[in-house]
Amino acid sequence: MATDVDDLVERVLSGDRRGIARAISLVEDGAPELEALSAGLYAHTGNARTVGLTGSPGVGKSSLTEQLVRTVRGRDTTVAVLAIDPTSPFTGGALLGDRLRMQTHATDPGVFIRSMATRGHLGGMALAAPEAIRILDAAGTDLVLVETVGVGQAEVEVAGATDTTLVVVSPGWGDAVQVAKAGILEIADVFVVNKADREGAGEAARELELMVKMGAARDVDWTPPVVRTSAATGEGVDDLWSAIEAHARHLEETGALERNRRARLLAEVETLASQRVRERVHAAIEADPDLAERIARREVDPYRAAALLLEGTEARNG
Ligand code: GDP
Repeated sequence: MATDVDDLVERVLSGDRRGIARAISLVEDGAPELEALSAGLYAHTGNARTVGLTGSPGVGKSSLTEQLVRTVRGRDTTVAVLAIDPTSPFTGGALLGDRLRMQTHATDPGVFIRSMATRGHLGGMALAAPEAIRILDAAGTDLVLVETVGVGQAEVEVAGATDTTLVVVSPGWGDAVQVAKAGILEIADVFVVNKADREGAGEAARELELMVKMGAARDVDWTPPVVRTSAATGEGVDDLWSAIEAHARHLEETGALERNRRARLLAEVETLASQRVRERVHAAIEADPDLAERIARREVDPYRAAALLLEGTEARNG
């Protein structure tokens, strides 16, 4: 079924939940309508705050997300949760099952919850996530929480594509060493030691504090605080929210908010453009079955062949 994109743009902008859901599905599918959708929505973006949560499975990201939703709803902030499995090509049934826990918020019109996977988006989650975030942004959401399932490279990329990134650990998880290994020390704006009701939380927090002191943070002007929470009881969640707000103020006061956003957008454009060039080169190779033969016969060398292909794609695309 073809989608009337103008109509969809209007629905997203008016905050229509089914319209938003449909638009995010288009992103997952990498549908051809995406270009027109992006063109219609982009001018209306840039207002939402974005917060990413990353950390190993089981540390309590979902529970913490639910607590954060509760906290911000108490402050009359509208919130969307984007739960992302960057490695799964399918919309995760398990992930959606996890979300059932968030049913306390299911009837709240100020809360939008959505699991997301990439089914056909060629750029993978690194491109799909920012586009989905912009849809929620354009729909007038104040805060977008982006939760990823684990700590792989793709997750780190997605979680890092937000204004503020929370790295969540829990006691006994291996703590600081694991954080260092996973390469997530650099992306953390706030460290969260969840399950602080358990033994070893103090030690985990001290280890992380030490690592922060020694390690290279992503922003020289900001020392990531280490906050202890218990998502089970809600303890420490207000402190976590304060830390997120403090980081938001820091970003605004130093101009880093704008700077980081620009850098992320440029990186996205670069990825998009590179992807298109790759597609065109691939098509040009397909269209020239004799090329491999000429290279094999030593008539054309690989450098010349590459130059010819690029010239050809430029000529074709004007
Ligand atoms: P995720 O995989 O990181 O999203 O973790 P979940 O939020 O699904 O939590 C994993 C398990 O830890 C669940 O059984 C939660 O009930 C439990 N859990 C989450 N937060 C806490 C906490 O602060 N304290 C304790 N004791 N258990 C928690």
